Amino acid sequence: LSKRLEGIFNNLGGQGRLTEEDVNAALREVRLALIEADVNLKVARQFVDRVKEKAIGADVMGSLSPAQQVLSIVNEELVEVLGGVEGDNKLNLGGTPPQIIMLVGLQGSGKTTTAAKLANYLRKQGQRPLLVAADMYRPAAVNQLKSLGRQLTIPVYSEAAGADPVEICVNSLDYAREQANTVVILDTAGRLNIDERMMNEVINIRDRLHPREVLLVADAMTGQEAVHVASDFNQAVSLTGMILTKMDGDARGGAALSIRTVTGVPVKFMGVGEKTDALEPFYPDRLASRILGMGDVLSLIERAQESIDQEEALKAQQKLQQGKFDLEDFLNAMRQLKRMGPLRNVMEMLPGFNKLAATPEMEEALEGDQLKYVEAMILSMTLEERRSPDIINGSRRKRIARGSGTTVQELNQLLEQFNEMRTMIRQMSSGKGPWAQMARQY
Ligand code: GDP
Ligand code: MG
Repeated sequence: LSKRLEGIFNNLGGQGRLTEEDVNAALREVRLALIEADVNLKVARQFVDRVKEKAIGADVMGSLSPAQQVLSIVNEELVEVLGGVEGDNKLNLGGTPPQIIMLVGLQGSGKTTTAAKLANYLRKQGQRPLLVAADMYRPAAVNQLKSLGRQLTIPVYSEAAGADPVEICVNSLDYAREQANTVVILDTAGRLNIDERMMNEVINIRDRLHPREVLLVADAMTGQEAVHVASDFNQAVSLTGMILTKMDGDARGGAALSIRTVTGVPVKFMGVGEKTDALEPFYPDRLASRILGMGDVLSLIERAQESIDQEEALKAQQKLQQGKFDLEDFLNAMRQLKRMGPLRNVMEMLPGFNKLAATPEMEEALEGDQLKYVEAMILSMTLEERRSPDIINGSRRKRIARGSGTTVQELNQLLEQFNEMRTMIRQMSSGKGPWAQMARQY
């Protein structure tokens, strides 16, 4: 797609106002991009019409070409349709525990894997999850969940072959109360296609247990088909959200746009791998960029301008030039990067830069709620410690970890990341080493 977008950039000249012709030309490409990203045909057409209305006649802003401006409207609109800037990825788990999350979806969509991922994710947030093996349709399913539970040391409730799935779920609740579990995750049976028995089973479970969250697990690779599956499940059990799996593959995730448009159901998480930690909260702006494949400098500049406080940037720059960099600067840098979206995306947008630039640890530190922990840890330090991190010895580490509700291990990780970044910055400002070379190039 990038080539295609470049084409639009080049073909359109700059005038004062967006003409219908400009808009049509750009939107033709956008529609193709959406369809390439597996967005449902009807949804793509609807979306393009919406953008067209907004775009025609809009004033061309200062430095943007007409095509850039259309794209910026497209991006804005896409984020809006996907759930807004803030998104609505929070699970609703308030009230008296245990709260119930029911996962539904076709066979192979990733329910069992996602159940384990979700349990792992919620445990990190302080919940005490119980996994429930309610898929009695496939004999291997119970063992699959048990083995995932063992790996994670998360309890799994199951019953012998032949037991009734609805009863299993009901009994699991008693068990959860006994064991003081705060959240119960039901892994239900899927079929290869929507069929009546499967639907009746999930309807029965829902009617008996009234789960707080009914989440559809859908395979992003199934593209166009995902919309029909989502509509059918939504009609049968009123979904509260969905989880899009296998987003680590080639899928651009257009299914999210289709499903959201057709059913109104928000996407809450994305599965990004087979491992039990490969689950990410869903962020509309990130998916929008992915759908559009916008690897262009424009959106980087836009986001950078929005998010970087000029004064902070200036201060940071002065410090950097002097080769100084302390934990307060580190925290500021993390906050700014977080506002710009995944580090990976930022790096990709810089021509010539590549993924090597963002270490997996830095990536992880910026994901989801990690920043909160980083903040808590740094805020638990004394001013002296923040300014001279090298004085943070063993007993200080213990105190800081305790004060911030984290572990010494997590604090060690943070300090390691900080050291890494500091080394990088020292190299840049001293003009030596690989980072300095890169800095000179851009
Ligand atoms: P279920 O039949 O709906 O319970 O699906 P499973 O949880 O058994 O998953 C089916 C297959 O998809 C398994 O091989 C999983 O490892 C794989 N899978 C699930 N989620 C993801 C994901 O996010 N990324 C990748 N690459 N594979 C996934
Ligand atoms: Mg399963």
